[in-house]
Parts: sequence; structure tokens; C-alpha cells
Amino acid sequence: MSLVVVSNRVARAKANEPMTGGLAAALLPVVENSGAIWVGSSGSVRDSMSKDPFAKIEALGSGALAMLDLPAAHYGGYYEGFANSALWPALHSRGDLIRASHDDYNSYREVNAFVARSLIRFCKPDTSFWIQDYHFLALGAELRQRDVHQPIGFFLHTPWPTRNIIDGVPHHRELIEAMLAYDLIGFQTDEDRDNFIDYLKVEMGLVVTAGTVTSSYGTSRLATFPIGIDVERFSAQAAKAAMHPDVSRLRRSLHGEKLAIGVDRLDYSKGLINRINAFDRMLSLQPSLSRAVSLLQIATPSRGMIEAYGNLQADVAKLVSDVNGRHGEVDWTPIRYLNKGFSQTVLAGLYRTALVGVVTPLQDGMNLVAKEYVAAQNPADPGVLVLSKFAGAANELDAALLVNPNDIDGMARKIATAFSMPAPERRMRWESMMTKLRAGTIEKWFTDFIEALEDAHAAREGKGSAGLIPDPEPKQLGTWPLRVVATTTSSRYH
Ligand code: UDP
Repeated sequence: MSLVVVSNRVARAKANEPMTGGLAAALLPVVENSGAIWVGSSGSVRDSMSKDPFAKIEALGSGALAMLDLPAAHYGGYYEGFANSALWPALHSRGDLIRASHDDYNSYREVNAFVARSLIRFCKPDTSFWIQDYHFLALGAELRQRDVHQPIGFFLHTPWPTRNIIDGVPHHRELIEAMLAYDLIGFQTDEDRDNFIDYLKVEMGLVVTAGTVTSSYGTSRLATFPIGIDVERFSAQAAKAAMHPDVSRLRRSLHGEKLAIGVDRLDYSKGLINRINAFDRMLSLQPSLSRAVSLLQIATPSRGMIEAYGNLQADVAKLVSDVNGRHGEVDWTPIRYLNKGFSQTVLAGLYRTALVGVVTPLQDGMNLVAKEYVAAQNPADPGVLVLSKFAGAANELDAALLVNPNDIDGMARKIATAFSMPAPERRMRWESMMTKLRAGTIEKWFTDFIEALEDAHAAREGKGSAGLIPDPEPKQLGTWPLRVVATTTSSRYH
């Protein structure tokens, strides 16, 4: 088969640049190896849609990267509007932040329809489509309307919340009905899948049996595929990055201080305010930690055009400044706060330098930073992960110090415990987490999904068993049943 992967953002294959988020970071290596065509937004918009909407098509590994200019008239309503001011807050259980006009919804649907029209050129008899994330809930239905009968799968990188939160999204029912056009809908955790099933049963009166639901589109499978990382690549990168100038400068600047690190997009779901309050509280409760520890918080700006994000940026900056003002000394700053991004190579070295990784989102689909922090550690002297129990990663990384990010005192105590944890316990916890990470790599995630998609499509067509989704053994990338569909020239897609 040939595979077309679709996501809002695509990653350019440059090793020395920061990734635009977990999705792009995760997909890049597997898409590169699979020979798939990866379609996404170019980052630019266009007024006239009369010409070819593809701004650029370039080679990516053994496949291709195809970048679309999205329609200017609908981009704001789609991206800043419905996707990130209605769906994103809802999916992260922040019903209070939902803002969306009917025009925004209309723009969201227009962009989904536009992308569907643009994808038709890639649709061959053996094509399978794999649509990524909340930007494109309705893309499968748009493709079906255009007579695409090939397998279409969908994976949600965010959480799926409880029914009452989804009820707060304008047009929720229409959208979820549209999602049933997918043969397979994948979630990060069983809880997310179960929340979705609960909506189907209660709001729509549908019967869900053994993870399969039947609608006017036919059957759809609902299953869990926790996303992983390339563990070995990250470990190797981290060991090498020790010599990187940024990393060695950081080490030299520590003067024996123990370092904690946080790496997040500036997003309200990441729990930055609570984390900094917990650090503040820890310093108040344990004055002996003054000068002995510090926090490096990397907070990359994100979605700055949206009011909630602008407010957050101002609030975090003010809080960091208050904490540093109160606890700092002439020769010591408790929190080093940076509003810029780093390449994953440098990040890997920064993770390895830090004795404690603090990943404390209020809600998170998976959180790849948590997995990367673990993979980057020195096996002989690993650091400690302090992890929110509300991150999808907590299911696998249960040997981390799990915290409730709403309990500031509890978090303060756990961060202090992490700083003083003896080496044998650190090693024991780290080994347990590494075993889990190696069992659930990004390659396995990709292969499992594609196999389940084929199976789900066969079941919909009545060609296969409609039983439970098998749990296939991990396979090497080279053995995937994917045909190379694009080589080095891009002109064939123009
Ligand atoms: N990242 C990066 N440079 C930075 C900050 C983050 O390359 O300066 C990458 C990081 O390595 C990770 C991703 O961005 O792979 C963030 O993914 P995560 O799942 O933690 O959060 P998201 O941003 O997708 O909500």
C-alpha cells in the first residue's frame, strides 16, 4: 500500500532546529523511513485558490513532504479560532476557555473540505490515509463525500475529555458524527477512548461492542495506541550532546547546584504556574535548598495571537520574577527562565545535565518531553522524573514520582524528594521506565496503527474478522508493508 499522512504542521528535516511540537517531532523519523507522503500546512496562506494549493513538495527520506497554502479567508477562524480556542481547551478539559463563533466553525469545516480536495490527487487504489489530530476531525467525512473508499484512519494526540466538557463545544454532535467516517480512531490512553465511547453511547445512542461502533458510514474501530519515542536515538544524542557548547556552558554555570529542568510550550495545559508555585513553596519550606538547587524552565512561545496565551505569557513571566526576587541572592537565581526553543540535540544534553525533570501538566495527551527526559539520562547516574498523573505518559512511566499538579504542597515535597533521592533508587526507577519506553517505541506505534487500520478497513468492507484488534509484535521499519511512493523528485505531484 502507499500511505498519505496528514497533519496541520509538518516538520522540516533539519536536525539543528527546534521541533514545532510533539506531533511533528514524533512523526518525522517514522514518516521519513516509511516512504509515506506527509501533507500539511506550509505555514503560509493564499487568497486565490485557483492555482495549485501545494506551495512546495520536497523529498523526505524515501517519501515526500507536501506543503499546502491554506485559504487566507478561513485560516484565522480555523486555526486560532475553532481548533485552538474551542477544541484545544475542550480537549484539555478547560471548558471555561472555550471561545468560538459560528464563523469559526464554518472556517474549520471549510479548511477540512479544502484539504480533502487537495488530497484527491494522492488517492490511488492502494492508498491509505492517516489523519492526525484535532485540526481535522471532519477530514475523513469530507474525503468520503468525495468518493474516497480507501482506508482512512485518525489519531488524536490530545486527551479526549468527559462527555459534559465535549457538550460545551459548539456543533459537537455534527463533528463526532463526521468522525465516524474513519475506519479507525486511535487514542493515547484507554481513558480517552472510554470517554469517547461514553459520548457515542449516551449522546448518540450508539451501541459499541468490543471497541467497534456501527454508523451510517459502516463500522469504526476505537482503540488505544500510546505514542512513543525513538529511545535509542535520544539516548545516543544525549550522550553526544554533553560536548555541545550550550550544554557545557550550562554545566559550568551550576557551581555544584543541583538542576531541575522543565521544557514546555507556553500553554495553559502545561501547568507552568502551579509548577513555579511549587518550586517557590519548596524553597520556603526548605531554606537549606537555597543556593543548592535551581530550575531551568524552557517555555517556548506558542499561539501568541490567542488572548489566553498572551495572558499566560505575562502571568508566568511575572511569577518567575516574583519568585526570583524573593528567594534570589546576589550570586544565585532560583529560576532560569527562557522563552526560546532548542534543537532536540541540545535538549537531549540539557535533560541529561538535570538531576530532576519536572513534567507537571494539568492535562496532556502523552507528553513526549517526559519520555525524552528519561531516555536522555546517564544509565550510571540517572535523574528523577517528577510527572503529573494527568499526563498520558504516566500510564507507562509509573516509576516516576507521580504528582497531582493541583496540589502545590504535594508537588513541592516531591520535587525536594527527587533532589535528594539516593542513586540506587534513581537507577531502579529509571531502569523500570526504560523497559517500558523500549517496549513502546515510535516505530511500534506507527506499525501497530497501520496494521490495525488495514484490519479495521477489511472489517468495514466485510472482508475480515470483526473481532478484537490484535496486538502485533513490534516490527522493524524495513519490514513494513509500505511501498515507496515518492523518490527525490517532487514535480510528479504538481
Ligand atoms: N521541543 C523542541 N525544542 C524545544 C521544546 C520542545 O524540539 O525547545 C520538542 C520536544 O523535544 C518534544 C516536543 O517538542 O518532542 C514537545 O512535545 P510534547 O508532547 O511534550 O508537547 P506538545 O508541545 O506536543 O504539547
